Amino acid sequence: AIRAVVDDKTEVREYFNTEGFNRWSRIYSEDGEVNSVQMDIRNGHAQTVEKVLKWVDADGSAKEGKTFCDAGCGVGSLAIPLAQRGAQVSASDISSAMAEEGAARAASLGVKNVEFSTSDLESIQGNYHTVTCIDVMIHYPEDKMAQMVSSLASHADERLIISFAPNTWYYRALKSFGELFPGPSKTTRAYLHTEESVVNALMSAGFKLQRTEMTGTNFYFSRLLEAVRQ
Ligand code: SAM
Repeated sequence: AIRAVVDDKTEVREYFNTEGFNRWSRIYSEDGEVNSVQMDIRNGHAQTVEKVLKWVDADGSAKEGKTFCDAGCGVGSLAIPLAQRGAQVSASDISSAMAEEGAARAASLGVKNVEFSTSDLESIQGNYHTVTCIDVMIHYPEDKMAQMVSSLASHADERLIISFAPNTWYYRALKSFGELFPGPSKTTRAYLHTEESVVNALMSAGFKLQRTEMTGTNFYFSRLLEAVRQ
């Protein structure tokens, strides 16, 4: 079982340092050439980020004085706008290519209160008002998910904001369809999760649900949960 995780993580790290970096840094941009599937994913992901920002703006919780940890930050699509609102943001990713691109984007925008580093989310240090982890759980098999949630929770003083690809009949069908036509370049395994199992993991970690959202486009689907300490 331990080997399975090592293998998944090694594969994910390698992918997001090579083909995955090329593909996803383009998807997570406002311009640049993408195909129609990637455009759909770009728009869906942007909607998820907007939903998180709407929550933090509604209660002013990304203002100066607040601390955020964005685990599996990618190229900073969420970490940078959080920092632009005044919060001190610690952004990390298992892929050095993704984290370095995030740092370059922050620098080019003149955003200073965000620090990017390369780290497995299970090795994150410190405590933060809010821990966010967006669209990362898809890389975790079901039997490692609760451990991942409890690891994130251990760094969150007040709030966790996480998303996952929901395991429903519809998305299972979409995923198996996608696996028949995996496209020209290599991808990673993708794991769906049931809402019940994620909520149970949050509860075991001492958190309860506060707000929820769902984003579904043709090729992108993400259930978003905000949980606060019980
Ligand atoms: N959260 C970002 C966003 O929403 O823009 C990026 C999402 S991208 C689909 C998934 C990211 O999770 C990749 O950058 C990948 O390198 C990172 N990742 C996967 N497993 C990880 C782990 N165990 N620890 C840290 N980052 C991880």
